[in-house]
Order: sequence, then C-alpha cells, then structure tokens
Amino acid sequence: MVSQVKKDRRRQDRPTSAKGFWTIEDSEELYRIRGWGDPYFAINAAGRVTVSPQGDRGGSLDLYDLVSGLQKRNIELPLLVRFSDILEDRIERLNACFAKAIARYNYPGTYRGVFPVKCNQQRHVIEDIVRFGEPYKFGLEAGSKPELLIALASLQKPGTLVICNGYKDRGYIETAMLATRLGQVPIIVLEQPEEVLLAIEVSRELNIVPVLGVRVRLHCKGIGQWSETTGDRAKFGLNVPEIVWTIEQLKAANLLDSLQLLHYHVGSQLSSIDTIKEAIREASQIYAELAKLGANMNYLDVGGGLAIDYDGSKTNFHASKNYNIQNYANDIVAEVKEACEEKAVNFPTLISESGRAIASHHSVLILNVLATSDVPADLPSVDREKDHLLIRNLYETYASISAENYQETYHDALQFKEEATSLFSFGYLSMTERAKAEQLYWACCKKIREIARQQDYVPDDLESLEKDLSLIYYANFSVFQSIPDSWGVDQLFPILPIHRLNEEPTERGTLADLTCDSEGKVDRFIDLLDVKSILELHPLRDRAEAGQLPEKEPYYLGIFLVGAYQEIMGNLHNLFGDTNVVHIQMTPNGYEIEHVVKGDTMHEVLGYVQYDADDLLENIRKHSERALKEGKIHLDESQLLLQHYERSLRSYTYLS
Ligand SMILES: *Cc1c(COP(=O)(O)O)cnc(C)c1O
Repeated sequence: MVSQVKKDRRRQDRPTSAKGFWTIEDSEELYRIRGWGDPYFAINAAGRVTVSPQGDRGGSLDLYDLVSGLQKRNIELPLLVRFSDILEDRIERLNACFAKAIARYNYPGTYRGVFPVKCNQQRHVIEDIVRFGEPYKFGLEAGSKPELLIALASLQKPGTLVICNGYKDRGYIETAMLATRLGQVPIIVLEQPEEVLLAIEVSRELNIVPVLGVRVRLHCKGIGQWSETTGDRAKFGLNVPEIVWTIEQLKAANLLDSLQLLHYHVGSQLSSIDTIKEAIREASQIYAELAKLGANMNYLDVGGGLAIDYDGSKTNFHASKNYNIQNYANDIVAEVKEACEEKAVNFPTLISESGRAIASHHSVLILNVLATSDVPADLPSVDREKDHLLIRNLYETYASISAENYQETYHDALQFKEEATSLFSFGYLSMTERAKAEQLYWACCKKIREIARQQDYVPDDLESLEKDLSLIYYANFSVFQSIPDSWGVDQLFPILPIHRLNEEPTERGTLADLTCDSEGKVDRFIDLLDVKSILELHPLRDRAEAGQLPEKEPYYLGIFLVGAYQEIMGNLHNLFGDTNVVHIQMTPNGYEIEHVVKGDTMHEVLGYVQYDADDLLENIRKHSERALKEGKIHLDESQLLLQHYERSLRSYTYLS
C-alpha cells in the first residue's frame, strides 16, 4: 500500500489578483485555513485570523488584537497562545463521536478515553484536560515513571483510568499497584516478559490484586512518518507467543483474572483509515482469543494514532488524513462488535489514547518578522556611451520586456548575467560594473515575474523564477525550541500571517530563525499539491513616524497546530529558551488571560548549562575594574556595560 503521495491532485488555478483585487477568500484558499482550521480558525473581514475556541458554539476573537494587547502588557514575542476552550471542545468531540458510534451500532459497551501525558506534560494543560474530561471519566496514560507521578496526582475522580505504559521497574509497578488503594484504576500494561514476572512478584509481596493489561505487537504496520517503530519488530509489546506464555505465567500465579486489557499502538498520525481498520481487525481477534483462554477481558485499548489534517487536504498524505473522528470511532466500534459477537465474548470498554488529536489545535505560536533579505533590483543609472556593452545590453533587455517576449527576454538576461560573472572573473569587468549588471539582471527578473503572474499558464523554464526571487523572512524564534518536529522529522505545520490577509501577499519567502544553524529554517509549507518550498507573504512596510528612524511595521506570523509534542521536544540550541506562554479562556463577554507563564530568562538558560549568573557578573566586574585601572575604559562606559550585562541576565532570550 503506497500512501506517501497525495491522490486526486490536479493543478489548480492559484488565487491571483488577475481580477484586480485580493479578497479574504483568496487568502482562505491560499493558506487552506478551512481545511486544517475548521471550526477554530478563520479570517475576518478586516483580513485577520480569528479564533473561535469553542468551535461552532461560542464567540470568537481577533488574534492580531489579542497579540497586540498582550504586547502592551509586556508579554513579548515569540509567544505561545493556548486556548483552553479548544482542549475542552476536542475532548467533547472525541467522546461525542464514540457515543454516536456506540448508539449507531448498538454496542453494549462504553468508551473511556485517556490522554497520553507525553503529548503535552505542561501542568496547566494536564489540569485542563483532567477538568474537561471529568464528565466523561477521561483518564490519563503514562509512558514513564515521572509521567505516572503526574497522572496519579492529577486525577481527582475515583474510578478514572490510569493506563501505565512504558518500561517498568519494580518502583514503577509498586507505585501503580499501591495507587489502586486510592480508588483510581491504574492498569499495568505488560510490555516485556520481565515485567510479567515482576508484576506477579510485586502483587504477591504487596498482597494487592492488580488490573493488568498486555501490549501486543501487531503484525499490521502504520504508514508514514512514525511507521518504523511498529510492526513485528517494534520496540514495544509482546508478540503472540509471548502473550501465550504470559497467560500461562498468570494462570500459574492465580492472577489470570487480573488480565483485563489488551493494548496496541500502531504509531502516531495514521493517515489512512485502512491502517486503522486493519489494526482493529487483528486486535479484536486477539482480544476475543484472550477471553477464550480464560482471561477476564474487559478493556480494549486502541492506543494513539488518530491523525490531524495539517495540510487540510483530506488525503492519506503523511501530513493529512483521509477520515474524520466519526469514521475512526465507527470503524473501531463496528469491528469490535462483530468480532466479539462472532466469538461470543464479553464486549470491552473501548479506550483510545488520543494525544495529537486532542492537543494539537489548542496552541498557536506567534512570531514577529525582524527583517527580510531582498535581491538588489534597484535600477542603476546606465550611461549609453560609457558603460560596458554588456551593461547596455542588459539595460536594453530590461527596457524591451513585454508580455509578448517575457520568456525570451528572461533567457537573454540570464545569459548576460552569466557573461558578466565570467568577464569579472577574468578581470575584464570592475566590481562596480558587475554590481550594475547584477542589479539590472534582478530588475529584469522582477519585471518578468510581474508579467508571468498575470498569465494563466507559467512556462516551465520560468517556474524557478519565484524561488530565485524569494526572500528570507528573519523571524524571532527558534525552530529547535518551538517546532522541533519541523526540523527533526520534516513535519508540516500551517503557517500564515495573522493580519493583512485582505492584501495580496506579493512576496514569496522562506523563514529563517535566530539560531546560527543553517538547519534553523522553514522551507516546506503545506499545499494542496504536495508540499511547497516558498510561502506567499507580504512585503514589510515602513512605519513612518515623524522625527524617528524609519521603522518597520510589525508583521506577525502564526504557526498553527503546535499543541502536541513540540514543547517538550524543543531544545536549547544556541540557548534560546522556552517562549512566553499565555492561556486564554473565553468568557460570556470576551476572554480572559487565565495564566501567563514567562519564558526562560538568560539567567535560567545559563543555569541549565551550569553557569552561575552571579559568578559571570562578578567576572565581568573584575575585568572592567582592571580595564579601568589600566585606563582602557571610562567609568561611565564600564557602568553601562555592567548595566547591560545585568539586565540581559534578567531578560528574555529572544530579540525584543
Ligand atoms: C505516543 C503514544 C500515544 C499517543 O499517540 P497520538 O498519535 O498522539 O494520539 C498513545 N499511546 C502510546 C503507547 C504512545 O506511545
């Protein structure tokens, strides 16, 4: 099954200003916001992104206004904005879809989801999920000992499930078993043969009858970015012979009644519904067989994998998915019902460990563009008598460009530019002359691009023109800290300006971050047609304020769907720390800022690499005392330096 290519894609007419003006509908189509953003993100008549955190049921807010307001409160960019209501809406949606599927197929069991803590461990997020999940008895899944500690302490309602996954030592298993005494239902999922023996031993020692599960390594493999970790040779889980062995061990220890859950996890971001069906079909059979072998089966845990449509294409491309939550729930419920009926076994409570599907939408990263690169395309003055022939030729080419000859003149210009470069290398052209030639060449390219953009069809040999003329947008953030999966696994996130969307984005650009790493860039963007290497953006505008240095008007970009995995995977490359975070909650007449979590200061990031800020400051003080004594620095200069140093230690690691 090949599913890495988007299907049913035909080249579409790109939105153009051919009709003479640009509308917000053009922006909607260009950035595909309905595809990935519905029902939370949209564009308003003022050309700004709006957020409706309660989906179709509540009010909306203007993201640009929100960000401007936060900046007035000294909350600097880059900034991660969380919408708690989106988390609530996602949890409700998932539960509603399962409830609907259960009703539709007349399924005799229930659904009890758990949130995998590893997807976003931030305390405020987990607290929200626990609170919003209470009506549904929504539980938590832990994949490690520290996550188990979070899960056990965070859940309030007795009877809520805690699924205990990951590698386990004695301490992990003892903690989980003792917690059964608190009224929670920790289910210890056995993933390794050693854990089976350990669980039996600990249960005997503590005299606690645990609820146990087994994680099976399904034959079925996920497809896409995370597929290597699944299938017969997966890192986790017991194979079928090991499961049969586990049954024997538990039986011998008189603990077969404890085995109540079957778990599997095919992989994250399963783009194709076929994989989901194949997995649940195999797992349903194993579940039924376990019941037949005498285990007291009650739960079937389908793991994670419920995907997000990052590019809004509704295909089985890795950044998309060809199904919705309702299809997902329907297929799971229908398959399990059929298998259990056929084998006449108990219908399980269905569990999913959906992380990405719950957490992705709720966070938006906002960044400001600091500057852009540009090609040197100012038209130089050309002297028709004195200038080099090549320069005069280029100038004439420029002057002659028209809709009739733009393709031909492009090749002329290209050839003249190449000649200029080689003449320069052989010493026949001065640097000033080469500069003129290059400026003229770029001026030709820009003029040709203007004409090409008006055409219905762009000739193949001009396709690279947009890329060659594209700008680098220098943005105030670190890819490694805020969207590590973009760097690490080429994950795509929707990126667009959050304002000026009623204006045509006439530039094409890629993003460069603040790190001194050539990998610190974004040059892959969502597209209907596969992936695009440049993004449509607006030119930066000057803000003319009387008597001041010319300054650029702020230009804000939003990176969307970053609520899952990005924060904890982010790292301190170049010592750019955690960004500022705000939690926004809707109120009947607007919104309120629930929490502000300040990003790392330089003092803090230096501490992570074992520098003591006071020691550093003391060293600088000593250096400057010495320089003062030697007469190398003035007292006021040394004071200023120390002030800057001290202030920096207390401030944000990003540019202000
Ligand atoms: C990572 C993980 C999940 C979460 O997967 P999503 O695709 O984010 O829903 C669930 N279960 C296990 C065992 C995992 O390792």
